[in-house]
Amino acid sequence: MNIDLDTGKLVVFIGGFALLFGLETLFSKRGYLRPRWKRLGFHAGIALFNMVTIRVLAYVPLLMWIVYVEQQGWGLRRVFGLVGWAEIIVSIIVLDAFDYFWHRANHRVRFLWRFHKAHHSDNEMDVTTSLRFHPGELLISAFVKAGWILVWGPTAVAWFLFEALVSLCAQFHHANIDFPDRVERVLSAVIVTPRYHAAHHAVDRRWGDRNFSTIFSVWDRLFRSYARPADGGETTNGKHAIGLPDARERDFSPVAVLTDPLRNDNLGLRSNAASDQP
Ligand SMILES: [Zn+2]
Repeated sequence: MNIDLDTGKLVVFIGGFALLFGLETLFSKRGYLRPRWKRLGFHAGIALFNMVTIRVLAYVPLLMWIVYVEQQGWGLRRVFGLVGWAEIIVSIIVLDAFDYFWHRANHRVRFLWRFHKAHHSDNEMDVTTSLRFHPGELLISAFVKAGWILVWGPTAVAWFLFEALVSLCAQFHHANIDFPDRVERVLSAVIVTPRYHAAHHAVDRRWGDRNFSTIFSVWDRLFRSYARPADGGETTNGKHAIGLPDARERDFSPVAVLTDPLRNDNLGLRSNAASDQP
């Protein structure tokens, strides 16, 4: 069962990536500073490294943990008597809410930001950015997710569907595409769109420290961390230039990306909490 779900998640990942890479080729919103194949190569290298290390260290133990928690009958989900599709839908919403707070903590807690910064240090944003995560962040987040699993107790099926949906949504909202304003308004009222998330990657931290949602955009509005992207989603030169204010030349150095959390001078790249709404 788990092997089938695992394969399904991989198919969604590869299919989603290929589809969005194709759409970016046809309808790219922004021009590129670097050749796309270089971006793909660098970020695929990071993803491969993460897949090998994190799968052994965290992914497999996490799966065993889900099965164990399920066998023990732990988790709030059972208190509410949720089963079948109701359990899957509610679990996805609850886990997405957990993800929102976890992402927010990654920006607010200095220690966590040291790792999450690797994702934000990309000076451009496209579907390959969704592969760019420091292994330290993935490892720490695996421990945090183990806590969610204990608290909520999702079924393995709900967990896999949630993880597949997160990976698909991350590919989608990092993609270098955009929608006409009217479509954007309707879409971003429900889910996180590329324009919505591009604002989160803005150099200007008044936007970069907002819009933390992953799947559903409601969390930012509910917990007052929403910042409306600039009209037209301008991201190339203007308000939403992408990346971090400092160390912009180190965005494609594998050594810098991996060792940055250990550097003491990296505090300059801290995600400064915004004090005023844009
Ligand atoms: Zn972030």
